[in-house]
Amino acid sequence: VVRSLEARDGRSLPVDIAERRKADEVNARLAAIVASSDDAIISKSLDGVITSWNRGAERLFGYTAEEAIGQPVTMLIPPERFNEEPTILGRIRRGEPIDHYETVRRRKDGELVDISLSVSPIVNCEGVVVGASKIARDITERKRAVEALRETDRRKNEFLATLAHELRNPLAPIRNSLNVLRLSGPNAIVVAEVQEVMERQVNHMVRLVDDLLEISRINTGKIDLRPEPVELASVVRNAVETSRPLIDTGRHELTTTLPATPLTVDGDPVRLSQVVANLLNNAAKYTPAGGRITLTVRREGSEAAISVRDTGIGIAPTMLRRVFEMFTQVDRERQHAQGGLGIGLALASLLVGLHGGRIEARSEGEGRGSEFVVWLPLRAGSSAESLEGRGAVDVPTVAAKIPILVIDDNRDAASSLGMLLKVLHGEVRTANDGPSALRLLETFRPRLVLLDLGMPEMDGYEVARQIRKMTHLNDVIVVALTGWGQEEDRRRTREAGFDDHLTKPVNLECLQALLRRL
Ligand code: ADP
Repeated sequence: VVRSLEARDGRSLPVDIAERRKADEVNARLAAIVASSDDAIISKSLDGVITSWNRGAERLFGYTAEEAIGQPVTMLIPPERFNEEPTILGRIRRGEPIDHYETVRRRKDGELVDISLSVSPIVNCEGVVVGASKIARDITERKRAVEALRETDRRKNEFLATLAHELRNPLAPIRNSLNVLRLSGPNAIVVAEVQEVMERQVNHMVRLVDDLLEISRINTGKIDLRPEPVELASVVRNAVETSRPLIDTGRHELTTTLPATPLTVDGDPVRLSQVVANLLNNAAKYTPAGGRITLTVRREGSEAAISVRDTGIGIAPTMLRRVFEMFTQVDRERQHAQGGLGIGLALASLLVGLHGGRIEARSEGEGRGSEFVVWLPLRAGSSAESLEGRGAVDVPTVAAKIPILVIDDNRDAASSLGMLLKVLHGEVRTANDGPSALRLLETFRPRLVLLDLGMPEMDGYEVARQIRKMTHLNDVIVVALTGWGQEEDRRRTREAGFDDHLTKPVNLECLQALLRRL
């Protein structure tokens, strides 16, 4: 029986010819797929001779098809892996495929490549294995990425260990101080002494945590710079004030040189002071006692250059750039004694970058001192423009007692803040949850409510909304007290009806400023 099929030109063809043509088309399509594949696709006979070679193979191994076909497949195998081939061929003879076997092969130029190999038996129409087809994929990139991830992970673990260590350091003296307070009772001299220790240590911890948060904020683009025309003399004054204790501890001599004409930049004064203070702190930390630190501000064309130079331990040339990387410490063992996480300069460099400036480290080598220079673009056409520096916050006392309500589910946080506010002439009540605070507010009429956000049962947002509904409290100031200080957190509190947003731990100056507003 001769069936017939429509051929493309419309004539009928005998079925065997039509089927062959169809098979040819399938083959041509498969050949096109093989040819265009990014992976190397190779076939070989059972005695290990290469019988086909696609363009992917040419790219991966460097041999052309003419060079490869007819050659033993062992030319791709590095000598130390020759034993792999008999094992692979053995499995193929038994008809077993090999899936994603990760190994190493050698290119024509002798270089080794990491590949993932899949090999399947080629079977003839009688079901007999006559050869093998191999697909090899270049996994160098993947391996490199995995390696990079491992390295990041290693650095992260090392960082966490350092962090734990650095946070534990100040905790020990704080705990000791608490014990001293408990044991010695109200002895004014002891209290004053212990208080100093606790203050210093808490400030240290706050700085560490602030730096960490700041880095993460900058890296996620969430930092809110508050640029304004800033006179660099005031930046320097604030920075020196911050670093003074460390400079004095090291008995260093600090010389500051400012330009005759004031230099003004567009910047966030707090951040800029932070950058300079950081450089001064480092100069003090990495200079043996009794060194010299020179701080110079000068004009260089359209830029201001702030230089901090020291006579300290210096920096090896290979490390000059690396000190700005996160968690870099030139000599970890030695650094531990100095206290630090290796993030100060990373932070400084990010902040300077945000101001359109740059920072550079210079040193003639170990033991020969260091210099850090920050360049900032000057404010256009106003180098003589001057703004009063902010100076230190003074500490006026509050005349009349101000009724204040503190709401925080952390009893210690609430009561210690309450004590502090009492010292600042507040008439303070505390509550440890939303419902009891609202009950208290039916009779107590505070001028100020300091309200923690994260509380079980009823959170701070809800409490604030309820307070806003209380008509007898329409002039009360409600301030959020929280560990979250990013712009979106501030937006949320604004929307919930808060007047202000303070981040924990609240410092004395903030509280005083707040009370002055009442
Ligand atoms: P930290 O001081 O917390 O370790 P930094 O990021 O501020 O972190 O500094 C990174 C490293 O750069 C320091 O650990 C130190 O090895 C080196 N370094 C910074 N400033 C100086 C300096 N003035 N002299 C010598 N080395 C310094």
